[in-house]
This record gives sequence, structure tokens and C-alpha cells, in this order.
Amino acid sequence: MPAIKFDPELCASCETVDCLMKCQYIEFAGISDAKAEKLKINAGENSRVLNECLTCYACQEYCPFGNNPFYLLVELQEKKGILPAPKPIVEEQLRMMSPKGRITRQKVRSPVVNMCAFPMLTGCVRGKLFEGASVISGNDIFCNIMWLHFAKNSVIRDRVPKMIDNIMSFYLKDSKIDEMVCFHDECYGTYTSVAEAFGISVPFKPIHLFDYINRRLNEIPDLIKPINEKIAYQRPCSNRLSPETDKILDDIFIKIGAERVPRKHDRENALCCGGVPRAQQRDELADELVEKNISDMLSTGAKYCVFNCPFCMATLGQEVAEHGLMPILVSDLVLIALGE
Ligand code: SF4
Ligand code: SF4
Repeated sequence: MPAIKFDPELCASCETVDCLMKCQYIEFAGISDAKAEKLKINAGENSRVLNECLTCYACQEYCPFGNNPFYLLVELQEKKGILPAPKPIVEEQLRMMSPKGRITRQKVRSPVVNMCAFPMLTGCVRGKLFEGASVISGNDIFCNIMWLHFAKNSVIRDRVPKMIDNIMSFYLKDSKIDEMVCFHDECYGTYTSVAEAFGISVPFKPIHLFDYINRRLNEIPDLIKPINEKIAYQRPCSNRLSPETDKILDDIFIKIGAERVPRKHDRENALCCGGVPRAQQRDELADELVEKNISDMLSTGAKYCVFNCPFCMATLGQEVAEHGLMPILVSDLVLIALGE
């Protein structure tokens, strides 16, 4: 089992300790305090960070050296049995999200769009935007990145290679296709960042949804009717694993005439939607995060609240709607601009 890719020397000489100093959920007295905690983690020792971490993934983005601080932290949480959620919840999730063995061989054609464990969203793949697409989904190709929230790197190591094998053997290989669009950027984060850090090989090319949409809009510019609306974007935790794609989203919004309003809690300062602490039964924190997100969005005068993650939308969508903003997925917003 390969260890998480990580260079302790980089941390030893790191002057900013951005991974912890920028954390929005844990307070440090200063850089030396944060560094002391980080060095404890690197040495496999107890650190209060292991208990206080919200598992928001953000330190993966904050580290300027790509030194995988969050994956390493989860590794130690699991080793020490520090579970961010009550054990029965973790066990229930493990059963619920396990591979079901119900996958069947299917001929597919490009673009192949992976909906992960959200088959109920298959209807989003429609219109000129996804013309000719094949859709694949289900627990047998679930990306399994969620275990980072539950101190279960071992499940990622066990299940992700099986999911990759299923994607290849049941869909891509026989159809001679070597790339796959990830509708959910959790999948993209799994097949790029997680796979690289965990030493898992990926035989296909993962395409981020934003990259696919942006390229498709370049092919059909005459169909775009700018929507000329202000939108508040709810950036998901998994986007911390592919921050370069956030810039592609800006391009998409410009193309469809959507103004991404400057929110306090967007981009690097994005806040968790509240779904993860809710799943971990930390309801007070979940309520606080929902309230902070909603009041931040309301202060911008946006008409839409745009989500990239279906789980964030399930968590915040109703609250957002009750406060007068229209919740919508990125792909559906683009479909509106295409008149569909
Ligand atoms: S993980 Fe990155 S930011 Fe954190 S101490 Fe190490 S090198 Fe610095
Ligand atoms: S995952 Fe989030 S809460 Fe945990 S240490 Fe990193 S930035 Fe802080």
C-alpha cells in the first residue's frame, strides 16, 4: 500500500504554514503554533487539529507546494481512530455506499458523462450542451471520495481501484474510449488529485465538467443568449482539489452573461455548505454554516444561487429558495442561456 505522497522537508522549511494558518475553522495563536501542530501531524503524533478539523479539504488548496496536508491528516485520524462522525453513522454509510454488483456491460459513445452516485440527475445531461452523450452512473462506479470526511482513507484505497476497473471493463474499454466527463467534481478530484497522492493509476483521461462545458460553448457560440443576471456561486469542498477549474467557471459565466457577484465566502474563502457537519451529526455547526452562507449570498443582490455539487444543493437549496434566490446547478444555468 503506497503511502500518501508528501515531503516532510517542505514542511520543516515552510515559513507560512498556509495549510493551517488559512484554515477557517481552527484558530492558532500564530505561525509557530500552527507549525508545531503541523510537525506533530507529520511525525504521526496527536494534534488537536485531528479533532477540530471540519474536513473541508481547503488545506489541500492552501498549501502552495501541493504537499497533501489534508490527505495526510485523514491518514492519521484513521490510524488513531479519531472519527469525525459517530461510528454507527460511518458504518451505516459504508454499507449504503458499498458497490452493489449490479453493473452491466454497456456500449457507450463520446462524450461519456459519469454521474457517479447521482443517477437521479441523469436528466441534467440533455440538449445541445450534451448532444450525443452517453450517461453512466451508480454505486458500482461511485468515486468514494466522501471517505475523506469520515477518516477512512483505507476505503478509498480499497474501493477506488475497483471503481476504475468497473468503468474500464463495463463501459470504456470495449467502446474504445479513453476519456470520461466527470459531472461531479468530486469524481474529477478522485481521478486526478486523490489518485496521484494515493498512488492509484487511472487508465482514462478525466475531463472536468467545466472544461467540457467551456469547450462546448466555444463550438456553439451562436446559440448563446446571455442571461444578464447576477449569480452567487456556492463553491464545493471538492473544488479545492482542482482549483484551476474555478478559473474555467469564470470563463463560462462570462460567455453566458452571468455576473459572479463577489461574495465574502467564495473562491479561497468558500465556506462549507453545512452538509458535512450535518452528516457528522454536528448540527450546531451545520446551522451556523448555513446561516453564514445564506446571509452572505443575500447581501450580494444575486438572483440565482449556483451550485456545482448536488450534495451542496441538497443541503442549501431549500433554504436558498425560501430566501428568494433560485437554486440551480451550473449545467442547468448554461442550458437556460442556450434557450433550453
Ligand atoms: S503542508 Fe504545505 S503549507 Fe503546510 S506546512 Fe507543509 S509545505 Fe507548508
Ligand atoms: S480540512 Fe479544512 S478544517 Fe481541516 S485542517 Fe484543513 S482547512 Fe482546516
